[in-house]
Amino acid sequence: MVVGSGGREHALVETLAASPLEPEMYAAPGNPGIARIAEVADIPADDLIPLRDYARENEIDLTVVGPESPLIGGIAECFWEADLKVFGPSRAAARIEGSKVFAKELMHHAGVPTARFEAFDQEAAALAYLRALPEYPTVVKADGAAAGKGVTVAHSREEAEEAVRDAFGGKFGAAGERIIVEECLEGREASVFVITDGRDILPFLPAQDYKRIYDGDEGPNTGGMGAYSPLMWMEPATYAVILEEIIRPTLSQLALSGAPYTGLLYAGVMVTETGPKALEFNCRFGDPETQVILPRLGTDLLELMMASEVGDIVGREITWSADKAVCVVLASEGYPESSSSGDEISGLEEIPSGVYIYHAGIEERDGRFYTAGGRVLNVVGTGPTIIEARARAYAAVEQIHFEGMQYRTDIALEAIELEDI
Ligand code: AMP
Repeated sequence: MVVGSGGREHALVETLAASPLEPEMYAAPGNPGIARIAEVADIPADDLIPLRDYARENEIDLTVVGPESPLIGGIAECFWEADLKVFGPSRAAARIEGSKVFAKELMHHAGVPTARFEAFDQEAAALAYLRALPEYPTVVKADGAAAGKGVTVAHSREEAEEAVRDAFGGKFGAAGERIIVEECLEGREASVFVITDGRDILPFLPAQDYKRIYDGDEGPNTGGMGAYSPLMWMEPATYAVILEEIIRPTLSQLALSGAPYTGLLYAGVMVTETGPKALEFNCRFGDPETQVILPRLGTDLLELMMASEVGDIVGREITWSADKAVCVVLASEGYPESSSSGDEISGLEEIPSGVYIYHAGIEERDGRFYTAGGRVLNVVGTGPTIIEARARAYAAVEQIHFEGMQYRTDIALEAIELEDI
């Protein structure tokens, strides 16, 4: 069973369903794309007890949790207590995403390279700190999980002050009752995923996502507007440094602190001139990076997940197709501040070869599709080069239409330039 209802979960369901183990697939609450592959139950992802009861009634062998919020809320313990298997971390380990202050302190103790930071639980103290800061930009982050929207890279004191006031004014709810202000890092960003049983790791190839709403990385942060993988610009040696200096010490420190981590760990990394530094950790697959990683996977994901659940990943390896993948997110009008729904979507009837369409904020009524959220669809193109993968993705995007549809036109553009070299 896959818990969640976005494009990430659609990609997970599709990949798991293709396993040679021929699983019977379930999902909650799912979406129209998922409902074509799995039996869906209308249970919200945060309703832990009903999910547990459903898993028990249907004798679910393994539950894979897509979004962070059930994990931060303790879905793993809830299932484990009922003798049900879960691919995902405990509530204590999920704090690595649930609290940025917790994550920063853990990194500090583990000696993980990351931006210097200060934490505040009072607006006045945070504002005084900003006044004394010698230079900008600086980064203001809500402590709690805020769906990728709690981070402001502030280029001026005014912008930073506004972010501080927003957080303490309740813009992110309880997630903003505490904030951190940290050093702004420069470099290239990468998302690194590893499957782990708490001791050993199985690394996936890295991906890059695009968090800002507009082309050229302008505008506010979103849940993610696109992604591509693999990353031509990342040297294998740099990747090895990320695994050895960021991922492994973090996992060891979590185990030392009595919260061993199992499931998928996601590190957001900035590769700076002085080496890779951790930006953040997430306790689950990234969205939309998952959508460019899973279509290229050559190894059975279900088997890997089951092996990690019983602590048996040593000596395993993940193989990859030679193809590249590019994902373009189609968002509804008003996103990320708001979203519009109920607009009919056309152009989903035929999916060209080499293209995957993953459903996210979408609804199906009488065989027609309508928008039902901020990020509506993920269009993934694959091909032997980034140029081809990208061309396929954007050609498919051109076929799709709904009122107010917005998307970035520069996803993976820089990768083409790098591919040419
Ligand atoms: P996070 O949710 O912490 O990954 O932050 C969201 C985005 O904000 C990241 O993907 C970066 O683009 C940006 N960001 C976060 N922290 C920093 C930092 N210290 N320096 C520069 N950019 C950052």
